[in-house]
Amino acid sequence: MNLFGSYDVVVTGAGSSGIVAAIRAAREGASVLLLEGTGFLGGLITGGRLTKPTGLINSTIFHEMLERCVGYKGADGRVHESYWGKYTGTFDAEVMQRVIIEMVEEAGIEVLLRANVIQTVMKGNAVHGLLIRTKSGESLVLAKAFVDASGDGDVAALAGADFMLGRESDGLTQPITSYFRVLNVNVPALIADCEANRADMWEVVYPKEAGDRNEDYAMAVLLTGFQQRIKDKVAEGFDWIIPKDHITMKTGLIPGEISVNVTRFQGNGLDDRDLSRAEIEIRKQAYCAFDFLQRYVKGFEDAIFLEVAPKLGVRETRRITGQYIITETDVRGNRRFDDAIGLCNSPVDVHEPGGSRAIMDHVGIGFGIPYRTMVPLKIDNLIVAGRCISADAIAFGSTRNVPACTMTGEAAAIAATLASTRGVPTSSIAVSEVQNRLRELGVWLGIPGEDVPDALKQAS
Ligand SMILES: Cc1cc2nc3c(=O)[nH]c(=O)nc-3n(C[C@H](O)[C@H](O)[C@H](O)COP(=O)(O)OP(=O)(O)OC[C@H]3O[C@@H](n4cnc5c(N)ncnc54)[C@H](O)[C@@H]3O)c2cc1C
Repeated sequence: MNLFGSYDVVVTGAGSSGIVAAIRAAREGASVLLLEGTGFLGGLITGGRLTKPTGLINSTIFHEMLERCVGYKGADGRVHESYWGKYTGTFDAEVMQRVIIEMVEEAGIEVLLRANVIQTVMKGNAVHGLLIRTKSGESLVLAKAFVDASGDGDVAALAGADFMLGRESDGLTQPITSYFRVLNVNVPALIADCEANRADMWEVVYPKEAGDRNEDYAMAVLLTGFQQRIKDKVAEGFDWIIPKDHITMKTGLIPGEISVNVTRFQGNGLDDRDLSRAEIEIRKQAYCAFDFLQRYVKGFEDAIFLEVAPKLGVRETRRITGQYIITETDVRGNRRFDDAIGLCNSPVDVHEPGGSRAIMDHVGIGFGIPYRTMVPLKIDNLIVAGRCISADAIAFGSTRNVPACTMTGEAAAIAATLASTRGVPTSSIAVSEVQNRLRELGVWLGIPGEDVPDALKQAS
């Protein structure tokens, strides 16, 4: 077996959680290998075009990523009003990709793209190495500590960790949705249409000071609704093939660019046939929605279909069973934990498995994410970060949001680096050490008795 290399910390998955984990670990002094199965960095926030982090931006690395995007005029630094408070800033996916490359290179991280982890090498119950498959064949990667930021919990599952999949009643996961992007939309005309049909809109967010140029609305508009209009047009004969009854859309960086969230495929994001079918069905749905918008929504008359997001929008797969499973009650009750590593106020955002409804419930000033949700039961030397942490199906509606994923990435990196520096397994690291370092960096932990940022109080 070819030995690819030996590192302090290996991070699997270069999505939002993995990027933050790799950068934080490298800045803490670890030699880091970042493994990614696709040919790009960022996972869903770049390839999935999921460019609107929802909730308090609490990870210091992610905050810096957004600030750097603002510096390139590729993110909206302004504060918006919406259901979930005042911490949301849309960014451009390619500008984010540029920033990620810049920060990863500055940190001296070795990146291996098109590398899939296919097996773990264990010493007892501890992860000791990973088997990866690349174009050149199979190789072994060794490290002192590992972070699983694969979104799917692949490394933890390969190591034998228990996991949850879907909701308790029937095992169904939240549906797969890919955004599609449209250019040349007349945004002022679109907003006027939404205002004229306000009863059919749940959310119409745009800068009130904006004028009549598309530029005035770049990255600053969020619209949800059109339910009645879809119903009416279906009654008149329009062939709406999408199993969802409303549309959400937002403006992008390019004047006249609109990203549309409407497609929906019910399937298992770990099943090859479902994944393949989803790629095709979602495209057909996107073309259908585009036809609807062009015909029936003002501003879309001359619109041009740009793309379906290149990375399939898989919302939910494995949730690795950790030392603690954070619950809906914890999240809705704003529960604080002694071992919390990040205050999270992302909404409970659940798209009904098998149905067309969606809930987006504000959780007030937020809850703490316990470190134990990142520590898989029975497996050592592996910390889980990102959307696959240990949560019940409803709590997952909040912890899957980018702000939470990036917080867990940062905490995982600190624990993994401390373990590798001392040559001990990750289980030997006291959570208080991780918390101390996070506090030093300026992270709100979500522990009992801790205050919350002023702006968050106002937003609630
Ligand atoms: C349609 C949709 C809308 C959303 N809307 C919002 C929103 O408005 N606001 C918000 O905050 N969040 C939103 N989210 C959620 C959020 O985008 C994701 O949960 C979050 O980006 C996940 O980050 P991650 O790092 O955990 O995983 P990912 O971004 O999925 O990254 C995981 C990476 O690991 C790689 N990988 C997987 N397996 C392996 C392997 N075996 N070997 C090597 N690499 C591997 C993948 O290729 C991927 O790049 C949305 C998600 C979807 C799908």
